[in-house]
Amino acid sequence: MRPFELTAPTTIEDAVAAGEGTFLAGGTTLVDLMKLEVLTPRHVQDINEIPLHDIDNGPDGLRIGALERMSDIAAHPGVYPMISRALLLSASQQIRNMASIGGNLMQRTRCSYFRDVAMPCNKRNPGSGCPAITGANRMHAVLGTSDSCVATHASDVAVALVALDAELRLVSAEGTRTVALADFYQLPGDSPETEHDLRPGELITEVVVPRLDWAENSTYVKIRDRQSYEFALCSAAVALDIRDGRINDARVAAGGVGTVPWRLPAVEEALRGAPVTTEAFEAAASVAADGARPLSGNAFKPALLRRTIVRALRELTEGSR
Ligand code: SF4
Repeated sequence: MRPFELTAPTTIEDAVAAGEGTFLAGGTTLVDLMKLEVLTPRHVQDINEIPLHDIDNGPDGLRIGALERMSDIAAHPGVYPMISRALLLSASQQIRNMASIGGNLMQRTRCSYFRDVAMPCNKRNPGSGCPAITGANRMHAVLGTSDSCVATHASDVAVALVALDAELRLVSAEGTRTVALADFYQLPGDSPETEHDLRPGELITEVVVPRLDWAENSTYVKIRDRQSYEFALCSAAVALDIRDGRINDARVAAGGVGTVPWRLPAVEEALRGAPVTTEAFEAAASVAADGARPLSGNAFKPALLRRTIVRALRELTEGSR
């Protein structure tokens, strides 16, 4: 690990005053990447003493402080099931006890080439190439890819939060702004080194989930090579508003298949007005992978995505069909 300066601000104002620096919360991603020298910050700000630990379930929605730990959020009674399940399926108990929601949303891709400084990687070293496109790419994305990068976004809970139209409150020395999480993440395009809309020195202070009462009827299904401590081959966050035996409204997003958390508005539209049947779920899911660009090692992903969505919808409506 390279030497770095460590400071520990206790207020948001002090943390953003410098206009630069890398923020340390749980450290479950950052410290790993610093040990590998994938990240070599000169200044690290330990922000754990800043009071950003609340969860408030008010009339307008759910507000989660950026330093709330994954385990505490998952256990909170006001959190929608798809958020809790995504968090519980994300990592080991020890990591969930350490990792913050802000850090989870800022975690880096698990592409093995990105984490190996001996290999080229356009995301880590712009212009050096992308060995994953012709190399080991079983875990990689099929949606939102470019000729520069095909890495998947790693966060499970970001998938649920995108499905729920969550927003981020961001604070910098210039002031405060709010950004929809769906707009926060950026497709790789020609510059995969730019992953999000966070400006230098800007801090995520809060995640806001607008109130959506029918999202109590929601779930998150994660398909992976082993049952714990593994990233998604494919996942689906689904919520259904069912009235008089038909689907009035739906939220659907997918993980493990896109370069960003992947909302599926065409699937949602196909579900609206449909009966609560497996046939209707299969018809809606049939458009989920439209536009997919499979690689040599992950041609199974479009079909897996369709099946994962159907499975999530079936699990959610068990007893209603
Ligand atoms: Fe790097 Fe992206 Fe290619 Fe992985 S997929 S090697 S992160 S450029």
